[in-house]
Amino acid sequence: MKKEDCIFCKIANGEIPTNTVYEDDRFRAILDNGPATKGHTLILPKEHYADLYELPEDTAGAAIALAKKLAARMREKLHCDGVNLVQNNGAAAGQTVLHFHLHVIPRYEDDGQKILWDPTKPSDEELKAVCGELAGE
Ligand code: AMP
Ligand code: ZN
Repeated sequence: MKKEDCIFCKIANGEIPTNTVYEDDRFRAILDNGPATKGHTLILPKEHYADLYELPEDTAGAAIALAKKLAARMREKLHCDGVNLVQNNGAAAGQTVLHFHLHVIPRYEDDGQKILWDPTKPSDEELKAVCGELAGE
């Protein structure tokens, strides 16, 4: 997809009006328009990066620092009981908009949402084998 056709580029750079909760020279944080909970926010870099693989390391670090700031604000102002950070990459992982975004989702006791996964039960050998594939350089 071309950057010119990217809806999050247009939102992040102010070409499409949205509910902005935070903005600086690198990011715009907006309310998700299909929120999991009250205050569900998306951190959008103003530059177009499709996903985590394309995101420069310093931008990744700055996005987490901003998530921390917003999480504190959510606790203070919305009185949430917890926060999930969610970041999807690829259709298999549930990414629907191909412009990197970090979900900051305030959680409330009894909010009824299910953001966690169903745990599987690999054997110790299977875990060791995966560890062998993944560890190291
Ligand atoms: P993901 O599944 O991680 O790609 O998340 C995309 C998110 O963007 C979803 O939670 C949508 O509700 C949200 N979304 C899509 N379009 C808009 C929009 N125009 N304004 C605000 N949020 C949006
Ligand atoms: Zn984009």
